[in-house]
Amino acid sequence: MTLELAEPPTQSLPASRKSSALQINFLKFTITSLIGGFFLIPLHEFGHVLCDWITGHPAAMSYARDYLLSGEKTPFWGLLGGPVAPLLMSAVCVILIYRGVNLSITYPLAVLGTLDRLLLYLSGSTPSDERDLASAMAWPQATFKHIFLTCELLLLALILLSLIKYRPGIWRSILIFAVPPVCFIAAALLGFLLDRYAFPEQHKKEFGLIRSDSYEFCVGKVAYCGTTGLGSGPTGYGRASQAEES
Ligand SMILES: [Zn+2]
Repeated sequence: MTLELAEPPTQSLPASRKSSALQINFLKFTITSLIGGFFLIPLHEFGHVLCDWITGHPAAMSYARDYLLSGEKTPFWGLLGGPVAPLLMSAVCVILIYRGVNLSITYPLAVLGTLDRLLLYLSGSTPSDERDLASAMAWPQATFKHIFLTCELLLLALILLSLIKYRPGIWRSILIFAVPPVCFIAAALLGFLLDRYAFPEQHKKEFGLIRSDSYEFCVGKVAYCGTTGLGSGPTGYGRASQAEES
């Protein structure tokens, strides 16, 4: 299935405003959403790990958990790298969208990059990365949540505005925003399933089956823990802070 995203007739427009018809291949769009959705959480963890290494704190990661090799708590810049990495991916893809580059790939990745924390924010929670970042700065707990949420909404608004340029129609526009989150949830659930076997020790720490000073995330506390029968594991999209995670 191919979504034809064509601009209106351009005969009467000046040459500088003319452009060729643009297309989104829906199959390519969906496959990108699935692959991108699968790697969205590891991208978040990679952001932590990369910033940790850059700031002199060797770190490692599993599918959904990062940790310092020293066993210490992740410092500020390492914490910041996690939520920022998907936002950067989204921002780059938004720029590419406006330049008309590979829309079947850039549209889903742009949307996916905003979903890393957005689904958790919409659930009403303040994930532990954000809480720990705010604690490090001695700011109100929800400060970083509001900063990242603002960035996400801004990026989504820019993606929405880009549809004015390409005029895909209402239903195709809905698909552009609906397919990535559905694929993300499905792919992330698969990722957690594989994580259980690929990184059993880290997986247990994620869900509080092994005591740990810090643990990382869980997408879909209810959905995933439901599949594992863990019920009330210490989950949350982000590292557990010292005084929380009920
Ligand atoms: Zn994190």
